[in-house]
Amino acid sequence: MGKDGLVIVYTGKGKGKTTAALGIALRATGYEKRICMIQFIKGSWHYGEMESSKRLEPEFEMVAVGKGFVGIIDDESPKEDHEKIAKEAIRISNERIQSGNYDIVILDEINYAVNLNLISVNDVINIIKSKPKELDLILTGNYAKDEVIEIADLVTEMREVKHPFQQGIKAKKGIDF
Ligand code: ATP
Ligand code: MG
Repeated sequence: MGKDGLVIVYTGKGKGKTTAALGIALRATGYEKRICMIQFIKGSWHYGEMESSKRLEPEFEMVAVGKGFVGIIDDESPKEDHEKIAKEAIRISNERIQSGNYDIVILDEINYAVNLNLISVNDVINIIKSKPKELDLILTGNYAKDEVIEIADLVTEMREVKHPFQQGIKAKKGIDF
C-alpha cells in the first residue's frame, strides 16, 4: 500500500489509552517530530499533561477545545452544547491535519465522542481517508467503531484486569490526572 503514516487506535475499557498516546508524544519529541493533540470531550484534559506539554513546546502542542467553554458548558449542559465542542474539534483536527505542520496528530477521546453521537463515524473516516500520507494519526477512546478498526493499522484494546477504582481508591494525581 506504500503508506508511511500509521493509523493507531487505543480503545477498550481499561486504563491507559490517553497516556499511551502521550507516551508516543514524549518519545517523538525526542526526534523533534511535531505533534498536536486535540481533546474531543470537555473535561477530558488533565492539569498534569496541560502543564508538562508546555515543556515540550514547540514540538508538542495541545488543544483543549472544551477549555474555551468552561463556565459556559458543563456536564449538565444539553447534548447540543457538547456536540458543539466535538464538532469544533473536528474542524480544528481537519485544519491541523491538512496544515502540513505536524508529523503526528492525536485525536483524544474521538472514539468516545462518536459513541456519544456527538459526531458521526463518517467524520472520523473522512479524517482518516484525507490525511496526508506521511502523517501518523492516533485515535483514542473506548468503543471504537468497527469501521475505524477496519481501516486502522494498529489497534490496541486496553483490557481492564484490575482498577483501583474497584477498591474505592480515588483518581490519583500524576497517575490519573
Ligand atoms: P488514561 O488517561 O489514564 O490513560 P484512559 O484514557 O485509558 O486513561 P479514559 O476513559 O479517558 O481512560 O478515562 C480517564 C480517567 O478515568 C483516568 O483518570 C483513568 O484512570 C480513569 N479510568 C480509566 N479506566 C477506568 C476504569 N475502568 N474505572 C475507573 N476509572 C477509570
Ligand atoms: Mg482517555
